[in-house]
Amino acid sequence: MSLDGTYDDANIFALILQGKIPATKIYEDESTFSFLDIMPQTRGHALVISKWSKARNLLEMEDEALAQVMATVKKVATAIRKAIHPDGIQIAQLNGAPAGQTIFHLHVHILPRWEGDAKGFAGHGHGVQADRAQLEALANEIRAQL
Ligand code: 5GP
Repeated sequence: MSLDGTYDDANIFALILQGKIPATKIYEDESTFSFLDIMPQTRGHALVISKWSKARNLLEMEDEALAQVMATVKKVATAIRKAIHPDGIQIAQLNGAPAGQTIFHLHVHILPRWEGDAKGFAGHGHGVQADRAQLEALANEIRAQL
């Protein structure tokens, strides 16, 4: 899907918000939801989404929803830092399939980074599905720092 298109109410993140498929939750408030990526590119790879906006990408996003999502990105990134002590934190957000976007509900990636690790952002299809029990244990560590 390019930058143009219509929002699909059955996209994976919409289904997570509807409780139809599980997610390893880190944080939730009235307007945003944060959870661990199921195919983490680094340890602690997390995502933040809006609970109400139907923006597929940044260009469609309401300023209010964007501000809410970024406030949660800061909150969760701070908790991740306290929990697992990365040397850096990469924030990534992809718009349109040619840019690597695979799920068309706007989401912001939080990628903890360590000295000496590879720094690139892997395109889709590169990830290995993480063990859900391990993700849950990590989410517990992060939640304890919120
Ligand atoms: P994008 O490439 O669209 O920016 O990122 C989509 C992200 O969603 C990828 O990092 C991918 O690993 C992640 N993802 C795909 N399906 C699921 C899922 O069912 N649950 C979770 N937690 N993450 C998912």
